[in-house]
Amino acid sequence: MEILWRTSHAPKLTFRMELTVRHRKSTFLWRRNVDRFPDLFSHSTRPNINVAAALAPGFRDTLGPRLSLAAETDLRTLANELSSVALRHDTPDVRWDRLTNKKLSNKCVYTNSFRHLRIEEAAGKVWGSAAPLKCKIFCWLAWKKRLPTNERRFRHQLSNTAACLSCAQDEDTDHLLLTCPQAREVWNFFFPDFDIGGPSNLTDLWLTKCRSYEETTVNTAIVWNIWKRRNARTFNNIIEDISLVSSRLA
Ligand SMILES: [Zn+2]
Repeated sequence: MEILWRTSHAPKLTFRMELTVRHRKSTFLWRRNVDRFPDLFSHSTRPNINVAAALAPGFRDTLGPRLSLAAETDLRTLANELSSVALRHDTPDVRWDRLTNKKLSNKCVYTNSFRHLRIEEAAGKVWGSAAPLKCKIFCWLAWKKRLPTNERRFRHQLSNTAACLSCAQDEDTDHLLLTCPQAREVWNFFFPDFDIGGPSNLTDLWLTKCRSYEETTVNTAIVWNIWKRRNARTFNNIIEDISLVSSRLA
């Protein structure tokens, strides 16, 4: 008898278990048996069950309470095949990451799970600063356009107007933090030439104005304080002087 195994789902999680079955390094029961026993597999409540567990007495309990006739037939055939399998219990149960050939760890699994995703450069800037975590989270939400600006609140029918409190334009994230005269006042206080080729959106800000860890930290602090200044005006009707903002930033 020859049993070959393959992963039945989640191909990105390509780890394997060292388990010698008939001189083959093998792993999950359903790796190559899905196609051979489709009816039985459809009843399985543990698609990742390994061969050793399948040989244990409780295997039948992992198949659901009632099997179809075809599944019962599959089960008999599989049990017949497994009856001739001898496990080597002295072989350590070690899992390996197939891509890096290193011992499996949580880090490996997460890395493999998200390997297909593209990491945006601006994201590294958002999180790569010495700012407190709450400021980084704020910047992340801002970059993802999830701040409760008037424009967003109006869009969700939570406000009667999308207009900015300081000017007549719609208050979206980029306007609030970068292009609004109130925001410009803060930026120009720290960077007098900010208006010349200044970024018009947050992605531009992270990519063109955050060339070092220190610059990213400073810009995060400025963005955070523009938001605090806006909230003071919106909720407490307090117009914060630029000197107060700069002292908070110092
Ligand atoms: Zn404005």
